[in-house]
Amino acid sequence: QVRVRFAPSPTGPLHIGGVRTALFNYLFAKKNNGVFFLRIEDTDQARFVAGAEEYILEALNWLGIAPDETIGKNEKHGPYRQSERKEIYQKYAQELITSGNAYYAFDTPEDLELARKEEEEQGKTFIYNHHNREKLDTSLRISETEINQRLTNGEHYVIRFKTPVNEILHLHDIIRGDVKFDTNLLDDKVLFKSDGMPTYHLANIIDDHLMETSHVIRGEEWLPSMPLHVLLYRAFNWQAPEFAHLPLIMKPIGNGKLSKRDGDKMGFPVFPLDWKTNEGISSGYRENGFFPETVINFLALLGWNDGTEKELFSLKELVRSFDINRVHKAGAKFDPEKNKWFNHQYLIKQTDSDLASAFTPTLIDKGIVISKEKLIKIVSLIKERAHFVSEFWELSNFFFVAPTVYDEKALKNWKTETPKLMEELISVLQEIMDFTSINIETIVKEWMTTNEIGMGKVMQPFRLSVVGALKGPHLFDIVEIIGKEETINRIKTTIN
Ligand code: GLU
Repeated sequence: QVRVRFAPSPTGPLHIGGVRTALFNYLFAKKNNGVFFLRIEDTDQARFVAGAEEYILEALNWLGIAPDETIGKNEKHGPYRQSERKEIYQKYAQELITSGNAYYAFDTPEDLELARKEEEEQGKTFIYNHHNREKLDTSLRISETEINQRLTNGEHYVIRFKTPVNEILHLHDIIRGDVKFDTNLLDDKVLFKSDGMPTYHLANIIDDHLMETSHVIRGEEWLPSMPLHVLLYRAFNWQAPEFAHLPLIMKPIGNGKLSKRDGDKMGFPVFPLDWKTNEGISSGYRENGFFPETVINFLALLGWNDGTEKELFSLKELVRSFDINRVHKAGAKFDPEKNKWFNHQYLIKQTDSDLASAFTPTLIDKGIVISKEKLIKIVSLIKERAHFVSEFWELSNFFFVAPTVYDEKALKNWKTETPKLMEELISVLQEIMDFTSINIETIVKEWMTTNEIGMGKVMQPFRLSVVGALKGPHLFDIVEIIGKEETINRIKTTIN
């Protein structure tokens, strides 16, 4: 059975790259009728940030990609929080010592500093591995009795992996293909510390084994850890899962990885939800008026497509079309402008009634009372121009309040004959009993043709009076909604 995981460390808010990893895991699981689980990797107590775990769950829920198993939900292989699994790691670290795949290292930071200097003086870079592990203060050079003595004395130690020497590892990654690693270049990573806590590497592979992870799908920054992880599985005599390292997400402009600072600088969110700290708020997609569907859609296309030009995918469609073998190797450019376009696509897909409801709080704030029926009409007229519901007011305020300022440029076209024409227009409008868009349009146009009045001469000042500028939806639609009396009042205001 396919079982995949999202395994974030709660060191802060989930950023957009992390969400992409979660999404690809989710899609892969659902596509293969598998399980998507969430594990919280909180063994690094120093980097723990309060609230981050809740944030991660809330973000996944908002996006509609909640895990099938996690803390408090179908705990088949719980606990799903690594800090609650300490005893497990302790036992397995011991096992590696016993099997000769790991060793105790007692050196102090000062010892290491000294060793580093020594090697540097000889023009070498210090790597803690087979080059020097026999020379350093490790259990490899002392007797069992002495080791036990020092452990009982409570000496500070770490357990390091004894990386095999002289081996070229030929590994396979679903996305990157065959990758080679020279074990001589790897360092003997710390697996466990005397404070009783494992490091990421040890905890990660033990849990992936115990939780029956079939595929490890994660960001490219973890590719360098792949050889160690595979060697650890081998040391335990466990079958390793398959690996797929997702391409980097790149800055919109220039080269390099997308960072939180790019978002702050260029004014787009890098988090799914707002993240509030004492220093302020880092803005999120949800609070900026993006639909979860939008975020899912643009994230899915960061490093993947279905082989066609198709760009709009619902989550359901993604589950159907997603193919991990089609994920690209090359970094994927993040495009905030395109993301707005995606939001527009999802905005126009909402029902007018839902959009009206989303707009209502803004109107209530402004003390505007309007029937839902009218509001639905207004929304249907302006939504084509909006990326976000938050733009609705700017696009529609003239439906609710008469303009107080008028576009300067348009006013320049106000001719000496204009007031007289507007007076006549008022009389024409007065006579219209059935004040509907089509009817008004027909009658006004008839009047213009019979009297041989140019379109622009009437329509421009008419629009300026009603809207305050030469923009907005079809004028007769606006006029129908604001009604006869209000229309006439607005024209009167401009000619006086
Ligand atoms: N805890 C790691 C992270 O924060 C997990 C990496 C992995 O998926 O192995 O991304």
